[in-house]
Amino acid sequence: MNLRFLGKGSAFYPVYGNTGAYMLYGKELYLLDCGETAFERLYELVGFDEIERVYVIQTHLHADHVGSLGSLISYFHHILGRQVVVVHPQTTVVQLLTLEGIDPRGYIYKETLPENAAGLHAEPVEVKHARDMKCYGYILSDKEESVYYSGDSSELPPQIREQFLEGKIQRIYHDTASEDLPNPSHCYYGKMEQWIPREKRGQVYCMHLDSPCEDMLKERGFSVVEVEG
Ligand SMILES: [Zn+2]
Repeated sequence: MNLRFLGKGSAFYPVYGNTGAYMLYGKELYLLDCGETAFERLYELVGFDEIERVYVIQTHLHADHVGSLGSLISYFHHILGRQVVVVHPQTTVVQLLTLEGIDPRGYIYKETLPENAAGLHAEPVEVKHARDMKCYGYILSDKEESVYYSGDSSELPPQIREQFLEGKIQRIYHDTASEDLPNPSHCYYGKMEQWIPREKRGQVYCMHLDSPCEDMLKERGFSVVEVEG
């Protein structure tokens, strides 16, 4: 599974672009979140004309994760005459798109990722992030491997940690914060240090960074996602 990153920043560190990733499979585009900076980055990196199907798997509805979803849908609908499949366990994403005036003919809403050409499965895992909104990580699996993508999350769910340590999940992409706040929305790296033994940290890819903290994370044995282009 070749996840390519459009950005690796947190909402308040826009220098690194909004965190989100994509995967191409033939003429299909699979997208994890579509934050404020995602549509423009995708426009530069992916030849939209060639894309016949887009799946957008949403973790939650904060603007840095969903901010340009409406524009992506409108572009595919009005310019290319194609529908985008929007995947999120909550119908709140439809409410948001309706308020934004997005033509409902431009997208198909699905609670879970439907069968697709890439053979990709996306199992949602509810995570701790915001009090007033549900947020999900996803276990993403294809024929070759399983990885976990956290979305925004202040904790690594215990069952994910377990599956990772057992080798059932090969890589973790996790929201990582350098600040240890009293009521956290994001995951302080010190917690990840406690949960993940050093020899396994290279398979944990930090993302959603709130500062240029890559060197510090790498010194502690973690990997950091590489942003495209
Ligand atoms: Zn968030």
